[in-house]
Order: sequence, then structure tokens, then C-alpha cells
Amino acid sequence: MTTHERDFSASIDPVKLDRLAEVAVKVGVQLQPGQDVVLTASTDALPLARKIAEHAYKAGAGLVTPVFRDEQIVLSRFRDATFDGFDRAPEWLLGGVASAYADNAARIAVRGDDPSLLSGQDPDKVARANKADSLASRPALEKVTGFDINWTIVAYPGLAWAKQVFPGESDDVAVARLADAIFSASRIDGDDPVGNWREHNAALAKRTAWLNELNFDALHFTGPGTDLTVGLADGHEWMGGASTAKNGITCNPNIPTEEVFTTPHARRVSGHVSSTKPLSYQGTLIDEISVRFEEGRIVEAKASKGEDVLKKVLDTDEGARRLGEVALVPHSSPISKSGILFYNTLFDENASCHIALGQCYSKCFVNGASLSPDEIAARGGNKSFIHIDWMIGSGRIDIDGLHKDGRTVPLMRKGEWV
Ligand code: ZN
Ligand code: ZN
Repeated sequence: MTTHERDFSASIDPVKLDRLAEVAVKVGVQLQPGQDVVLTASTDALPLARKIAEHAYKAGAGLVTPVFRDEQIVLSRFRDATFDGFDRAPEWLLGGVASAYADNAARIAVRGDDPSLLSGQDPDKVARANKADSLASRPALEKVTGFDINWTIVAYPGLAWAKQVFPGESDDVAVARLADAIFSASRIDGDDPVGNWREHNAALAKRTAWLNELNFDALHFTGPGTDLTVGLADGHEWMGGASTAKNGITCNPNIPTEEVFTTPHARRVSGHVSSTKPLSYQGTLIDEISVRFEEGRIVEAKASKGEDVLKKVLDTDEGARRLGEVALVPHSSPISKSGILFYNTLFDENASCHIALGQCYSKCFVNGASLSPDEIAARGGNKSFIHIDWMIGSGRIDIDGLHKDGRTVPLMRKGEWV
């Protein structure tokens, strides 16, 4: 029997699933009356996708268009294809999604796929297919990363993912436990999740306003295996929680979210840093990473597991060895307190302070929307095809903010805000 022949959605609390759908529509994208929605999901996540569509229509959606992928059909391509068509992607479909966004459709993406679906398949075919897919997806993705439209990502507890997070449990129990973990991380506990999010967004907004006022020149991280100075980009802006897209709609791009984050200076990072949680990258686990930076560039990199994959990642392009994001998350965040390793960046990055290799976010600059790529680069913004977050926070990390004139301000002690 394959894992897909049974329906595990019965293990998921239907009331909370309904509330998660409501949060996706009312908090995630804050859907406006008459607005269309492009809803992407795996066929495994049908129960949540249908609930989201229901809440979207009740909230006044114009047209909700689901775009499903099916893991067994994806797998079949790599296992069974007799024709070598791995450099192709459905440009007609992805181009259509891009034109929907150009017409102001909101984007709701449901994640929860098997994290290692393709791990046993020919890496060359997988790499070619991924490349074709990212090229064809670029016009749509640029509208998302450039924040042209309101968008959000929420999670659904797919069986394969649940079994990876809770390997010792039966299928039903693993799905039920991952569902509960997703609900509580997504602040779905309690009777008024939309109100919970209003409060949570206000707290994050207060934190980012404070950091923007302080306008640090750099951050200094110290802890076991870590003594790292991260220069911040000129004109950087801290973001967190809800933000307003260029179409004027305020949305929460990630459900859950706990981080406040900004853009480091690609040429002003120095010292060494050790990861505090394993990084799951395209089906490979990279563990106990330690790297050393000189003038913003990683000049030494080690890992106890997955070191060859890490080194390949670093050689992707020039920007892959430099930072594009630095984010602060208190050690007491609900996701961190759960103690669960999710093998999924949407969750794991919200459990811990982290840095990201690769591309920066243009919106993390003052007036970021009006800056050209050259202006962003001149301010220290990094450019790369990759953006990979990895965790460097724990209950043993101290962080100071450094001003240009040498003054320091304690920000975090033992992983908590001072
Ligand atoms: Zn982040
Ligand atoms: Zn990131």
C-alpha cells in the first residue's frame, strides 16, 4: 500500500482547520471584496484548500482558482518517463499565474509536501527540472517577492511530512500531532484567532519601530562556537509581521511568523558562526554547520553532515557565500518552546534567530520599492539565485546592537529580548 491510499484528514481537528482557513483569508491575505485568488496546494491538502476557498468566497472573493500538484504524479515523472523532457516546465500555466497577479489576484499557497519526495531520484534530472521550473516561475515569483500583491503561505500536515517530524508514531497519530503543532504555531488556539493575530502583529510592529529608530550599524552575536559581527545595509529597514503590498493591501506573508528581520551588508560580515539546528535542504539534512566570514564572504565552511551539499550550495553563484537576511526571534517563541524540529523553513526559521545565505529582500530598505537593483547593491544588498535560512539562535546566544560611534546596546541575553 502506498501512503497515499488512505485519507488521514480525519485525524485533524476540523474546527481548528476551519479557523486556519479563516486566518489565511482574513489575516494572511486580508482578501478584499471582488479580488481574485490563485490558490496553490498539493492534492493531499484538499481539505484545507476547500476550506480556504469557502472562506474566500464568504469574504467576497471574485474568482478562486486552485492550482494543484500531486506528489505521485511528480514522482511518476522521475520514475517512469521514457522521454527526456526534464528541461521543460509548464510555461503556459506559470505565465497565466503571473498574469493573474498582474491583474491583482491574491496568492494563497498551502505547504506541507513530502520534504524528501525526490531524494531517491536522479539528482541530475531533479536539478534540471528545478531549474526549468524556477525559470518559468520567475515572472510570477517576482510579483510575489517584489510584493506587488498581497500573498500568504500556510501549512497543512501532509502524511510524509508528519512521519518525518514524528517518526516513532503511527500514521494517524503523526498527522494529528503535526496538525496540533501547526495550529498552535499559527496561533489558532483559542476562540478568536483573528484577534490573536491583530495583537501579535501589533507587538511585532512595536519591535521593528524600536529597531528602526535605533538604526544600528551592526549586530554582534556571541555564544558557543559563535562570535559574529553582521554589518547592516545602509538604509536598511526592519520588518516583521504584517506589511503592506504595493497594491495597498496589508497582509501576513507567512503564517506562522515570529521574526523581525532586515538586510545585512553583503560586504561587512566578519567572524565565525555555528548553526544551532539542522538545516533541511531539498531532502538533505545539513547539520552542525560552522563557517567563517571575511569582508562579508564565507571563506571556510564545515558541517558534520551534508558538507558536500553545503559546499555545492555555496558555489551556486557569487552571492551564495554572502548574507541576504538577518532575523531575530526570541528563544521563548511558541515554535521554539514546542521543541519540534519541523524540517520546514516556514516553521524552523521562526523558532530561532537566523541568517540567510543569498538574495536579500528589497522591501527591507527604507523606500525599498523605489530602489533599482543597482541602488540596492550599492547600499550593501546581496544578490543571488538562492535564499537559504539557517538557524544560529538558542538560549545561549547574546546579541548587541553596535552604533557607528562605538556605543553598544544589549538586545538579547540568553536568547531573550533585554
Ligand atoms: Zn527569516
Ligand atoms: Zn529568509
